[in-house]
Order: sequence, then C-alpha cells, then structure tokens
Amino acid sequence: MIFKASRWPIVLALALIPAVCESVEDKKAHDSKAEAKADAKTASSEKSKATATVQPPAAKEESHGVAKEESSKAAKKPFITALTERTIPVDRTPPVDRKPVEASTHHARPTPVISRPPPPRVVVALARSRAEVIAIVPAPAAPQTAHAAHTEHWSYEGRNGPHAWAKLSPEYAACGTGTRQSPIDIREGMKVDLDAITFDYRPSGFKVIDKGHTVQANIGGWNSLRVAGRRFKLVQFHFHSPSEEMIDGKQFDMVAHLVHKDGEGRLAVVAVLIESGVRQPAIQTVLNNLPLEKGEEQTASSPIDVTQLLPADRRYFTYMGSLTTPPCTEDVLWIVMKQPVQASANQLNLFARMYPMNARPVQDMGDRVIKESN
Ligand SMILES: [Zn+2]
Repeated sequence: MIFKASRWPIVLALALIPAVCESVEDKKAHDSKAEAKADAKTASSEKSKATATVQPPAAKEESHGVAKEESSKAAKKPFITALTERTIPVDRTPPVDRKPVEASTHHARPTPVISRPPPPRVVVALARSRAEVIAIVPAPAAPQTAHAAHTEHWSYEGRNGPHAWAKLSPEYAACGTGTRQSPIDIREGMKVDLDAITFDYRPSGFKVIDKGHTVQANIGGWNSLRVAGRRFKLVQFHFHSPSEEMIDGKQFDMVAHLVHKDGEGRLAVVAVLIESGVRQPAIQTVLNNLPLEKGEEQTASSPIDVTQLLPADRRYFTYMGSLTTPPCTEDVLWIVMKQPVQASANQLNLFARMYPMNARPVQDMGDRVIKESN
C-alpha cells in the first residue's frame, strides 16, 4: 500500500496500539471452546485479520483451516492494510451520552462508518477521547461491515447458546417467539394407522462439509420420499450428538436429520435415532470423506446409499415443528423413526470428538398433536 509522506502513519499507529491490544484481550476472554469452533469461519477469522500482524501467537491459536488461511493472508499484508479490513471498537464502556452496546452485537458493534468516497484511500476518524470509536474505512469495506452486523455466530453453549439465539439477529426471532419449535420430547402420541412412508433412495454422489456446528452430507441425484400425498426430495443429512429428540424422556447417543424439500419449498425432516451397537455403513461412508478443513466441501470418492441409514421398522412419530438451528423456521413436517439404528462406539466417539454437544434443548410442546404409527 502506498502512503503519502505525512504525519498520518505515525498518528494512526499511536491511535491503534490500545485498540489492537484490547482487541486481543477481547479475543482471549471470548474464546470458549464451542465458540472457537463455531466462529472459525466468521467472527474469529475477522479477528485474526485484525490481530495477526501485531500478535502472531494469538493468530496461531486459531486451529481451524479457514482462520489459519485468513491469518496467513493477513500476515503477508502491511500492518495498515490488514487493519483496514474491519472496524475496531476501542472501549466497551459506554459514556453516559451514548446508548449502551447490546451484548448480542459483540462481534459487530455498531460503529460509525465514514463513507467519504475515495480518495483518500484510508480515512481515519480520531476520537475525542479513548472512549470513542476509531473507524478505519477502506473504500470497498462497507459491505463486509454490513454483513457482519447480522451474522454473529450462534453456538450451543455459552453466551450465544440456545437461550440467546433469538437476540443474535432479527432473522432468528422465531427461535424465541415461535410456538411450534423443535426438537421435542415425544410423549403421548396418538396411535393411528399412519400411511407408510415410501422411501425412494438410491446410490448417489455426495459431498461432505464440516459446517462448524455439524457434519453435513449434501446429496446429489434423485432421492425422495412420499408421505401424506406429497413427494419431497432429499437435500442433505447431518448429525447431532446427543440426539435432539427424546422419546418419553430418553435421549439417544446421536440422531441423523435427513432434510427433504418439496417443489414448493416445504420441508420434511426424517430423524433417525442412533444408539451404540454395530458399525453403521452410511455413517462410515460420511466419515471416510470428511474434509480436513472446516467449511470446505469434499466430493466423496464413492456413492452413498442413504437407505442404509434407515431402520428396518419404518413406523414413525410425526408432528409439526421447526428447524432446530437458527433461524428456527417453522412449518417443518417432522418424521421421527420409532426404531433407532446402531453405530459403533468408535463411530460415535469420532463424531463426539468433533461435536461433543450440538443438540438444542427440547422445546415446549404447546397444543400440538403428535401422531404415531400403530
Ligand atoms: Zn438437525
């Protein structure tokens, strides 16, 4: 980056020293285990960009590929350029004449953005005092700031855990205000003659991705199920450990969620409960193709037959619920298979090493009806 010979670099460097230090402290205080994983792709990588140049040890703490890659990119850049990729809050203690910063905007506190068009290349707003905010705005950075404002990452534990999801983004409101949320503890189903589900799964190509909150297999080809007169196409499946669904208060080691969508965008999710036992071939196929880096999609070397993931007994519970992760969208048709399948202790342990707890707590049943195959 070319800088005009002036006093600006000196003023800027002096102004930034406390800001950067606070940013590092902020990171350390905030690095809970779950969040360090969950944030690898978004907020943490942002922090890495801001801190990598001046604090190499902090950058090395990032163990995930995405963050590492971002850090090394940042490290190659000149000091000023690396810092201009985000705005840097200086002090979280609000003076009396300013509104307090909401906890949910920790990663992306509202910062004044100086939008004067280039040139100059870099605009520095110096604070009236240290308690003010310094905003360094390169010409093209505004969209990134806007994006960060609504993408603070949710997690399963800690400050951004399930109790706080609804506050993290307006788009997540249903997580708090919804009345037909999932998962649930399935009790007192109405035993009726439910239609059998027709599964039409066949060996298909697939890709595996570690989403940062679960491992997911994105399925190609045509796999579908037919239930209640509607046909839904299998889009992806992923896992939770322990199971999110409970049956009469019993939680299982894991659950697979097979997410289907019909032509009108309506969702049907089949939950297959998993308990410890013999090796599960479909789960093994997924594990075999697990990418080394979070957020990267790996194309599998061989097809998968998702039929292998289904229990022999196809009876099920069904109820209306929601996605179990933000944005917790409702009107999801849930089909919970009554018979669990088995996975080996080794397979369960491999998943638990990556995600020891990625299950949302059970939600209020409200006045919903659960139907159950006889
Ligand atoms: Zn799920």
